[in-house]
Amino acid sequence: MTKTNKTGWTPGNPVDWQPETQLVQGGILRSNFGETSEAIFLTQGFVYDSSEQAEARFKNEDPGFQYSRFANPTVSMFEDRMRLFEGAQEARATSTGMAAVTAALLSYLSAGDHIIAARAMFGSCRYVVETLCPRFGIKATLVDGRDLDAWRDAIQPNTKCFFFETPANPTLDLVDIAGVSKIAKEIGAKVVVDNVFATPMLQRPLQHGADVVVYSATKHIDGQGRCLGGVVLCDSEFLTKHLQDFFRQTGPSLSPFNAWVMLKSLETMPLRIKAQSATAATLADYLAGHKNVQRVVYCGRPDHPQAALAKKQMTGGGQMIAFEVVGGKEAAFRVQNALQLIRISNNLGDAKSLVTHPTTTTHFRLTQEQRLELGINDGLIRLSVGLEAAVDLQADLDRALAKV
Ligand SMILES: *Cc1c(COP(=O)(O)O)cnc(C)c1O
Repeated sequence: MTKTNKTGWTPGNPVDWQPETQLVQGGILRSNFGETSEAIFLTQGFVYDSSEQAEARFKNEDPGFQYSRFANPTVSMFEDRMRLFEGAQEARATSTGMAAVTAALLSYLSAGDHIIAARAMFGSCRYVVETLCPRFGIKATLVDGRDLDAWRDAIQPNTKCFFFETPANPTLDLVDIAGVSKIAKEIGAKVVVDNVFATPMLQRPLQHGADVVVYSATKHIDGQGRCLGGVVLCDSEFLTKHLQDFFRQTGPSLSPFNAWVMLKSLETMPLRIKAQSATAATLADYLAGHKNVQRVVYCGRPDHPQAALAKKQMTGGGQMIAFEVVGGKEAAFRVQNALQLIRISNNLGDAKSLVTHPTTTTHFRLTQEQRLELGINDGLIRLSVGLEAAVDLQADLDRALAKV
């Protein structure tokens, strides 16, 4: 099989389809068997009909596959579906979200370059920027991502990259994608956005001026807590100049089986995100009215500190909620331990609702001062809302919050 659709059936231009259609029909490569559902091509390599064909394929004159570290039919289907959906020219799937972040940054940056990143960041991303990059001569400055002046003030003559996530984990702080992209364009730097929390359903960074988007597919793209995966989305120039060789030669590739899980999950993502967002909105309102809850942060509520920005760049509130209970760590632990349906886990974006206490888990490596700088108080709990019925989740929270 080559990278073309052998059945010769072309139902129109996928670029013009609605997102729901792209996520079900986009990128399909049917084999000669004409299977309905996408096939899993669990193969490392591919055979050639002749020496001439092998030669042509290595010269890039024949469009077929060579080796699954470079490309694989199932992985290509996932990449193509993601590319269509995100409105990007190119997509490369990776084994994890962190492999996507690392590949996007290290394929592009070199010793002597400078990167500016928002301080409120997923812990491993902060390690890559703050610890790993400097070891290879890439200097990093962390700023308050909410403050556009802070981005501008941090610029150095060698600044080549701006990196941030919005909404950020776990405080749901936002970064103005268009604002930062405008500053970056002025100095010819690239903007890389970790779009995990918003999901491609609710926010399209490329449309706001970003250059590269990365995902942990582990979260909402799988959406059911099974496989690890990631994706880098970019334009053709970034791919050929930076990502392609790094990706092929260093090997962060996604396994075909995991790609298949992600591919099939994309079919239901709009339905899942819609349902989870609706439940999250209900629960956020409920939590905001509870006497034992001091503060609720939800991107879909008008009292989010950056509600106007949320409205401008997001099309929904999403399924993540942060809330602070009265009584600090002890109270937060009591609430988490009393929950029965909602389980304690540092993961998120699952069909199952999950809570975590960032101070003692995902952010325990930071000093108390660094945590407070990010707004992570000891009473803060992060809730990832799943697909259970809202009434059951609310009853569970109600029972637990009564223990404060
Ligand atoms: C989970 C996550 C990652 C890392 O993804 P993995 O698939 O666990 O490697 C990166 N960024 C954000 C915002 C995440 O939530």
